Amino acid sequence: MHLVMIGGSDAGISAALRAHELDPSAEVSVVVADAYPNFSICGIPYYVSGEVTHWRNLAHRTAADLEATGMRLRLDSTTRRIDAAARKLVVTAADGAEDVLAYDKLVVGTGALPVRPPVSGLTGAGALGPADGVHLLHSMGDTFALMRTLEESAPASAVIVGAGYIGLEMADALITRGLRVTQMEQLPEVLPTVDPALGQLVHDQLAARGAEVLTGTTVRQISRAAAGEGGRLQVEATAAGGTPVSRLADMVLVVAGVRPDTELAAGAGAALGARGAIAVDRGMRTSLPDVYAAGDCVVTHHRLLGETYLPLGTTAHKQGRVAGENALGGNREFAGSLGTQVVKIFDQAAARTGLRDHEAAAAGFDPVTVQSEADDHKAYYPGSHRITMRVTGDRATGRLLGLQLFGHKNAGIAKRIDIAAAAIFHGMTVDGISDLDLSYTPPLGSPWEAVQIGAQAWARQAQPEAQAPS
Ligand SMILES: Cc1cc2nc3c(=O)[nH]c(=O)nc-3n(C[C@H](O)[C@H](O)[C@H](O)COP(=O)(O)OP(=O)(O)OC[C@H]3O[C@@H](n4cnc5c(N)ncnc54)[C@H](O)[C@@H]3O)c2cc1C
Repeated sequence: MHLVMIGGSDAGISAALRAHELDPSAEVSVVVADAYPNFSICGIPYYVSGEVTHWRNLAHRTAADLEATGMRLRLDSTTRRIDAAARKLVVTAADGAEDVLAYDKLVVGTGALPVRPPVSGLTGAGALGPADGVHLLHSMGDTFALMRTLEESAPASAVIVGAGYIGLEMADALITRGLRVTQMEQLPEVLPTVDPALGQLVHDQLAARGAEVLTGTTVRQISRAAAGEGGRLQVEATAAGGTPVSRLADMVLVVAGVRPDTELAAGAGAALGARGAIAVDRGMRTSLPDVYAAGDCVVTHHRLLGETYLPLGTTAHKQGRVAGENALGGNREFAGSLGTQVVKIFDQAAARTGLRDHEAAAAGFDPVTVQSEADDHKAYYPGSHRITMRVTGDRATGRLLGLQLFGHKNAGIAKRIDIAAAAIFHGMTVDGISDLDLSYTPPLGSPWEAVQIGAQAWARQAQPEAQAPS
């Protein structure tokens, strides 16, 4: 049995490791377009900031560690074509040599590509690129190009286009490196994956660290600045109401989201689904015989929404593991995502899981969202922090649908969101959260855990009749 994985990031490597774990005798090959298998691209902002001191430290495992498990890595090798009927791949090596690789089962883990928004100067002939100080960010190659600009041109200022979680992490990184940062976001508030009330708190953090934050601002054009201006590049945008905005900067970083990289699978005839991602069933099977797919290139099964597209590293690992197991003949299912995520912005963190109010309403629930605050631990013990919470539940059934959190990075934001993720996963009610037996000691918590306080605030407001003594 020869299993072949295309892609050497979270999905492809997870699939290969799982297959090897289950059957050490299975022949497993991983075809990777670059020379950086199993790198944690989620860690790129911390290498750029200097907190991770060498890019090699971003490797989850080294190539030698991976090969020691028995898998065969074909690095700098790009798969050009899948012939699903013949169960063969056409692969080109770095020197251009073409090779045909036969497989019994194939796992496609080609991931995502950064979106290049329709901005003049970014697309078409003569588009600006890394040599001009204009960067996109997804791969290790993109990271090396960005570091070259930072180290060789020593830019003093940057415009970041986009204020999603990667844009925010990069604002943190570039400000930590001493650059002046202007962040432009076309939506009304930064971090649009959380409610504007929490986005505003993130916005305030950026501003407090010296970033100029321009929300409701759509970038139209990036061009080379005239000599003698205060920056290499000129960024033209339109603010709300049509007001023109222009900024000079030494570099521009475009982080405007990702799209699934499906060219290879689609070219072989695989059916596509939400947002053009590869359609897969819960066992990560594509519409092609003996071809599985996982990670950022596939649709995401969401536990509350059904099929959607929600690319995250945590999901890619889980889907890859399912694909690797099933490629060996297993029958595992991906249990589904809740979109659980957390981001650190300087010394604060924002997190969400499940649905926000408008998403829940669109999915047919009767949502109510209640904002409240609590301390991360007893305030009499030094170092406590306030946590802002937004709990979303279904008015009719009391079911917990979502939680959003904002607070200090040492306030347990990531693990507190995971309480709600586990509760939503198992279909708990908001009221049921209060019954959970959670840990307590004054330096680390309170007798009523913060998330339980948030749940009680929700119940008081959304279901006051249920609060009366029975
Ligand atoms: C800066 C940054 C920060 C992030 N932070 C987080 C975070 O904090 N938490 C989180 O959950 N997620 C985060 N993510 C998202 C996460 O990294 C992705 O969801 C995850 O990497 C997806 O893994 P993947 O294996 O599906 O695809 P990718 O990581 O996109 O990898 C695709 C792989 O396929 C290879 N490939 C593509 N085409 C071919 C071909 N034709 N032939 C051979 N090989 C090919 C590529 O070389 C690569 O190895 C972050 C992403 C970035 C860029």
